[in-house]
Amino acid sequence: MSSIYTNLLRPDIAALEAYTPIQPFDVLSEKLGIPIDQLIKLDANENPFGPAPGVAQALREFPFYSIYPDPDQARLRRAISPFIGQPVERIICGNGSDEIIDLLMRVLIQPGDAVVACPPTFGMYSFNTGVVAGRYIAVPRTAGFEIDVEAIAAAVLSSGAKLIFLPSPNNPTGNNVAREHVKQLLELPVILVLDEAYAEFSDGSVAEWVGQHPNLVVLRTFSKWAGLAGLRIGYGLVPEWLIEHLWKIKPPYNTNVAAEVAVLQSLAEAAILHARAQLIVAERERLFVALQALDGLHPFPSQANFILCRVERGDAAQLKQQLAQRGILVRHYRTPELANCIRISIGLAQQHDTVLAALRDLGM
Ligand code: PMP
Repeated sequence: MSSIYTNLLRPDIAALEAYTPIQPFDVLSEKLGIPIDQLIKLDANENPFGPAPGVAQALREFPFYSIYPDPDQARLRRAISPFIGQPVERIICGNGSDEIIDLLMRVLIQPGDAVVACPPTFGMYSFNTGVVAGRYIAVPRTAGFEIDVEAIAAAVLSSGAKLIFLPSPNNPTGNNVAREHVKQLLELPVILVLDEAYAEFSDGSVAEWVGQHPNLVVLRTFSKWAGLAGLRIGYGLVPEWLIEHLWKIKPPYNTNVAAEVAVLQSLAEAAILHARAQLIVAERERLFVALQALDGLHPFPSQANFILCRVERGDAAQLKQQLAQRGILVRHYRTPELANCIRISIGLAQQHDTVLAALRDLGM
C-alpha cells in the first residue's frame, strides 16, 4: 500500500523485500485442521523438551513484573560468565541472539559497507545487512557445504568487508567451521562473528578464544539448548573495544525480566539441560541412520539439532506439503544451493518414528 507520504521513506527500505516469518503454531493448527497437541513441529529447531523443569515455577513466583529490567543486565551477565568462561565485561545480552546481529550491523555498517556470509546459511545476515543498507557479499560454500576460506579472503580484501558471519554449526547444513579455518579467517582485516546458536549440540566452540583475538565475536543463545526460544534471549561475547559501542546503541530495556528469570533458573539447572541436549544428539544420530536407509532422501551429517536432507525422489515442496497434511511440519528451501531440500528439526523419539513411518508411506 502506498500513500502520499511514501516518498518520505528511506528508498532502500521502501525497496527492501519483507522478511517472511514462520507461521505461528495456532495459525498452522487452524489451517491444517489439526489440534496443536497433535502437530509434530520440526520446522524451527525448537527444543522438544521445553524449558528447564523449574522455569515455570520461577516465572510464576517472580514478584516484580511491573518494574523495568536492568539495562546493565548485571545479574544475567554474572550468571552467564562462569557458564561460558568469559568475564562479564565481554558479555552483552540481546532480545534473542538476533538482536546482537542487528547491533553489530548498526555499529559497524554504513550504507554501502560490505558484509560477507556463506550461503546456504542463516537468513538474518542478509536481512540485517539490507536494513542498514549494507552490501551483502555471498561467498558460496563448496559442494560439501564447507566454507571456501580462499574465496572468503579474496572477497574480504576486494570489498573491504567489515564483518563476516559464520554459524558454527551452520544453519541449515549442520556442519561446523573447522578451528583451523577460524584461525585463518582471524588473520584477515575484518571482524569474524562465529554464531554458535547450536554449539551445545556440537563438539566444537571457540567461545574461549574471545578476548585473545581483537576481531572475534561469538554469539550464543538460550533458544535452542535451554528451550527458551519464545522468551527471546541470547548473548554476544565481544572484545572490550567493540562491546562498549554496542552498549551505547542497545535499547536500554531490550531484555525482559521474564527472560532474565528463566535464564537464571536454566543456568541453575544447566546439568539437566545438557543431559537433554545429549538426548537430542543421540536422537539426531538415530534419525540420521534411519533417514540414510531411505532411498528417496539424502541426509547430511549434522552437529546441530536438525538434519538437512536432499529429496532424491520427488519434489521437496510437495513432500513438505504432504507431511504437513499429516501434522508434521518441516522446513523447505527454495534457494538454488538448497534445491529440493528439507530440514527436519530433532524432536522426540516417538515423533521421529511417526515421521519415518510417514516418509516410508509417501514412497521415500
Ligand atoms: N543464529 C542462527 C544460526 C540461528 O539458526 C538462529 C535461530 N534460528 C539464531 C541465530 C537466532 O536465535 P535467537 O532465537 O537467539 O534469536
